[in-house]
Amino acid sequence: MNKTEKLFRLRDIYDLSGSDELFAEAMRENVIYHYNNCQQYKSILDRKGFDPYSIHTVKDIARLPFLTTQYLKRHSLVTESSEPLVTATSSGTSGKATTVGYDIPTMLNDLVMCINVGKYHKLWSAVPVNYIVFGYRPDRENTAAAAKTAYLFTLMAPAVSRTFALERVNGEYRLAPEKIIAALKRSESSGFPLRTMGFPAYTYFFMRELERRKLRFKMPEGSLIALGGGWKSHYKERPEKEEFYRLARETLGIPESRIFEFFGAAEHPILYTDCRCHRFHIPVYSRVIIRDVDTLEPLPHGNVGIVDLITPLFTTSPLCSIVTDDLGIIHDEPCPCGCKSPTLEIIGRVGASGVRTCAQGAEKYLKEGAV
Ligand SMILES: [Zn+2]
Repeated sequence: MNKTEKLFRLRDIYDLSGSDELFAEAMRENVIYHYNNCQQYKSILDRKGFDPYSIHTVKDIARLPFLTTQYLKRHSLVTESSEPLVTATSSGTSGKATTVGYDIPTMLNDLVMCINVGKYHKLWSAVPVNYIVFGYRPDRENTAAAAKTAYLFTLMAPAVSRTFALERVNGEYRLAPEKIIAALKRSESSGFPLRTMGFPAYTYFFMRELERRKLRFKMPEGSLIALGGGWKSHYKERPEKEEFYRLARETLGIPESRIFEFFGAAEHPILYTDCRCHRFHIPVYSRVIIRDVDTLEPLPHGNVGIVDLITPLFTTSPLCSIVTDDLGIIHDEPCPCGCKSPTLEIIGRVGASGVRTCAQGAEKYLKEGAV
């Protein structure tokens, strides 16, 4: 078993300080592997004068040259020796998207992570549920990572039914409110819990639509709302969390304690899952560095900057250290949930107005899709 496999099999998924040594070893192993098998990555590291053999502690990782998500949209970095079986693409309904490959070692580590994160957050259930996915059914034409994640989520409890809230009409995806409302009515009377999964913006706009129509449901005990993919271009329309929870309680009868949010990216599909205090604790599989917006130098915790996500998960591409478009802050203060790991707060997006993503236009879809 190599160091990355060991890291992804750790029992305590939030024991950051206890896993620092193993994390550094896994990163060293992963960076050396890509350095030796991906010519472009080797050139980048050589140009920056970085020796992959110089990674000994987690502190050394801050010096590792990072790649940006924007760079990855224009350059496809493939590690030659790997054999990807599945690919996933980053969000982006227009413009360029990044394609990320999964070979067997990457898929297995990803799967073990999903199992362990699901266990910690008690997301696995033997009780059958009705699913509503605020997304689309993954198919040959649509390999979006978000669609795959949403689909995988529907495997965490046996499915009585799966309803996909977006439909393809003339090649475009539209939200289908009538279909969702019919599914909610069926779910409410079935006695089985409901689980929704999808972009927070879609979920929020849909709940607002329920309120506008004065429709109120009381979903069976055990129902939950899962949110993933972030607010993307909808940061400005993002409501206060309290407002979101009020809507969920009043329109679906689902309490705040049953709302889970996930954070991740196609280029960094680590499952950051919010705790009962709705904070993203950093799991053992990754480390996060907040960098100064101008100098890109690492900042001490408690400062706002660009989010740099680090993991040894991939063997198919050198996605070791990825600088995203997200602005965030790391908090060291103890969380009332009892988890000791620092928390990552995403507070916005760099140049949000110019970024088009698949969550954009959710409200437009809703209006156009309404009967
Ligand atoms: Zn917490």
